[in-house]
Amino acid sequence: MPDINTPLKILLVEDNELNQKFALAVVRKLGYQIDLAENGLVGLEKFKSNKYDIILMDIQMPEMNGIEATKAIRQIEALEGGGSHIPIIAVTAFALEQDRKNCSDAGMDEFLAKPYKPHELEQKILAVAQRFDIL
Ligand code: MN
Repeated sequence: MPDINTPLKILLVEDNELNQKFALAVVRKLGYQIDLAENGLVGLEKFKSNKYDIILMDIQMPEMNGIEATKAIRQIEALEGGGSHIPIIAVTAFALEQDRKNCSDAGMDEFLAKPYKPHELEQKILAVAQRFDIL
């Protein structure tokens, strides 16, 4: 099992205030650091200028949506080389099979449907942390 006490640094990209508050509270309660970006464009800028372990990505957002932001992040990783790949978890109310496929095609690694329970977010975070050997 991953060590839950490791202070993961997480970026939350989410435009809805209530969803922001909920995710921030859940993640902080787990003892992880979390930064907030209110849309995909801000998220992309924060990704460029910080070092995060995991990104939680909403899909429907103004300025730049989660699909576009994820594609841009994967493009930066590909261009800069080094084989880096930040785990991105889609967190969205769009939960149809096609929505999941769109997320996966854009380069997202996991999918969590909104609304979710705190333990479901925790499980997704731990799952990607384990899969990508972060903890
Ligand atoms: Mn949204």
